[in-house]
Amino acid sequence: MIYLDNAATTRPCGAAIAAITSTLTQDWGNPSSVHHFGVEAARLLARSRESVAQSIGAQPQTVYFTSGATESNNWVIYAAAERLGKRGKHIITTAVEHHAVLHPIKKLESAGFSVSYLQPDGLGRVSLADLEAALRPDTILVSIMAVNNESGAVMPIEAMAKLTHRTSPFALFHTDAVQALFKQPLRAKALGVDALSISGHKVHAGKGVGALYLRDGLHLPALLRGGGQESNLRGGTENLPMIAGFAAACEAQKKTHKDDIAAMRALQASCRAQLEQIPGLTLLGAQDAPHIVTFALEGLRTQGIINALQERGIYVSAGSACSRGHRSHVLTAMQIPPAQIDGAVRASFSRETTQADIDALAQALPEVIENLG
Ligand code: PLP
Repeated sequence: MIYLDNAATTRPCGAAIAAITSTLTQDWGNPSSVHHFGVEAARLLARSRESVAQSIGAQPQTVYFTSGATESNNWVIYAAAERLGKRGKHIITTAVEHHAVLHPIKKLESAGFSVSYLQPDGLGRVSLADLEAALRPDTILVSIMAVNNESGAVMPIEAMAKLTHRTSPFALFHTDAVQALFKQPLRAKALGVDALSISGHKVHAGKGVGALYLRDGLHLPALLRGGGQESNLRGGTENLPMIAGFAAACEAQKKTHKDDIAAMRALQASCRAQLEQIPGLTLLGAQDAPHIVTFALEGLRTQGIINALQERGIYVSAGSACSRGHRSHVLTAMQIPPAQIDGAVRASFSRETTQADIDALAQALPEVIENLG
């Protein structure tokens, strides 16, 4: 299998699998139990929190484990509305966010909040000037992703957070950093954001685990209320096997991520150079992040291209894997012509991607065009 769909999910690494397995088979205690077995589980939880926090340049007490970035995004958005809704009813986000941000914000919009959707340029980038123009004294939340999962555009999060805090004193700045972790430098505290979401399965851990960073001293209400876990902010017995796996994956990549990024960047350059030679193929989006190459084969249909590549053992995706069957809202917001959107495909890399994988894609595409055209 030539797996080029790493922005959708990544293969769990050996360290993650080992940690998940040993937690399921040996250290399966409940971190809330006060006996020795529970205390050991609580220690594992604390060590895991340290590892994940270190990976995003944060202190352990600012990292809360969740079931994934969808929950992290929902939590911070609804919590901001609950905590700050009396001070203002204005929210800013972008038209290119993942649905895990857009849908909760749409729900708040239908409940009376007013929302400004910043539009991207043709490459998928959102400008600081547009954010500046949208900020108001009654803005309570700005949610802008660090890296877009379809265009690969990188947003200027540090400058955006600074501008938000300078202009709108009550506003919280949140970034969905799912596609940024281990794909570019990510230091939550240094970025100056109030909240940041990450997900385990995008970085070679298991599915169903993620985290929300909340700046030290920021007190937001819980989304899931229950047994008082996660400092009373996220009820529910912790998914310790997946949390330990997430931490192990972070530990493994902490040592290698600079080299991994350089390797992905080289593969991306090679991929782009080879694809550019193919008649009828258009590269789409900024592709600032090292792991995303989106392109369109105008006149062909995305699903047909995916199927044809799959027959050759190559796995790619149609933009966001989460919005199957719908024309991409990201490419639409970038004003890509519909004929290109309908034939758009995303290849995405990880630390496991090889030059041979890229070459196989580049060799297969002209055949696919000939067969489908
Ligand atoms: N945000 C972005 C940018 C994503 O790419 C994804 C996954 O597709 C998510 C959020 C959702 O993450 P999870 O699967 O952990 O809920």
